[in-house]
Amino acid sequence: MDFLSDFQNDRKWCPACDGYVSYLMSIDKSFCVQCGGEVRLFSEEDWIAFSEKMDARKPRQRRKKPEAGKGRRDSA
Ligand SMILES: [Zn+2]
Repeated sequence: MDFLSDFQNDRKWCPACDGYVSYLMSIDKSFCVQCGGEVRLFSEEDWIAFSEKMDARKPRQRRKKPEAGKGRRDSA
């Protein structure tokens, strides 16, 4: 049965509840179903561990910003 792991994936970190909780998703934020507070993807610790992992994977490199606003051409 896979639904349990799906359920785990469907949780986010609530700093107020100090744990991973079910959440409600709005347009750009998610909220804890237990306390209504804003939740995040990871706890702070997990987030640090995660970003360290990501950093270690890549050589140090700055990401280029995509050039915005240059896609438009006047038709001849
Ligand atoms: Zn909460």
